[in-house]
Amino acid sequence: MSLASFWHQQQTKPGLALAFLLLITVLGSCSTEGPYHLYRGDIMGTTYSVQVAEHLVNPEQLQLEQSVLEILSAVDASMSTYKPDSELSRLNRLPPGEWMQISAELVEVLSLSQKINRQSQGAFDITVGPLVALWGFGPQQQKEYRREELPADSAIQQLHKQLGMDGLELDKAENLARRVRDVQLDLSAIAKGYAVDQLARHLFKLGLRNYLVEVGGELRASGKNARGRPWTVGIEKPELQRGIAFAAVQLRNKAIATSGDYRNFLTIDGKRYSHTIDPRTAWPVNHALASVSVLHDSAAAADAWATALNVLGPEQGFALAEKLGLLVFMIVRDDENTYLTRESAAFSAYNQNTVTD
Ligand code: ADP
Ligand code: MG
Repeated sequence: MSLASFWHQQQTKPGLALAFLLLITVLGSCSTEGPYHLYRGDIMGTTYSVQVAEHLVNPEQLQLEQSVLEILSAVDASMSTYKPDSELSRLNRLPPGEWMQISAELVEVLSLSQKINRQSQGAFDITVGPLVALWGFGPQQQKEYRREELPADSAIQQLHKQLGMDGLELDKAENLARRVRDVQLDLSAIAKGYAVDQLARHLFKLGLRNYLVEVGGELRASGKNARGRPWTVGIEKPELQRGIAFAAVQLRNKAIATSGDYRNFLTIDGKRYSHTIDPRTAWPVNHALASVSVLHDSAAAADAWATALNVLGPEQGFALAEKLGLLVFMIVRDDENTYLTRESAAFSAYNQNTVTD
């Protein structure tokens, strides 16, 4: 039996706190050694940050802040379910059967969603929209609003019947999409990652090679930080309070996304209900997994896989991650004060060279 088949009690590694502090320092933009630029703000109901550890030279590079905003706004205008006039909202309103011309970007995300839906055996499913709303996490809900009792079983069952990605058809050659029945598409679990990829591609096209971009906690890094070291990021402790580092990971030209039940959840009769819906049951996921982080070349794929593995849970999700060779770090809640961790073989192999600076 390999070591990886056991859950591990987390050991606090020397240097870990320091690594996270360094990240904070870099974010704070003071006391850096090399060239350094930071842009941040709000988008898609969350925050973003772009850090560049290079001199900006040509006019396009000097207009980076403006172009970053344009890219983020474009993703939002295409994929938001909060904006009634986004491409996605218009597709959701179009009568089933009718084709709609959509952007190449939306085709890319819908197509990746189909692929990860298949690979995750249905765990990742962007037609969960109506169930997300029923459980009280949808765009219509006020931030302060939280359900105080469970939805009626009949309502859950009715929406469960509608679920399924066979309700969406794509014509990739022509950039067309249509719903074949009344499914409601929700890209919340992949769009932030996609926005990160779009930013990274943009910076690369501008000739930049050393950057860390982030939208809503999903990150992607290229090259080195201002100290000439690999970008090191913290995997958060799965608790309500933000920014406590639990583990450190070096991102060497990789993206990382985390999915968990520790921030967006509701409590009914003392029980915690996550905003991640299990499409097999139409209920919020219910297992001991507190968070799952996925490293991937693409932030969109990392984002979607984090949600998929969160649905599948600590055993099934871990087994699938191993089978597909995904880079995965899981944190499980043992009792109130203990967290256990588990990492896939591919993650261990990737991370063993990490020296936290
Ligand atoms: P997390 O960081 O916890 O993954 P995200 O914001 O990335 O959170 O994704 C959660 C959102 O994804 C939910 O609010 C919901 O809109 C949507 N979602 C919930 N369950 C699923 C699922 N099984 N497949 C795809 N999307 C889902
Ligand atoms: Mg996600």
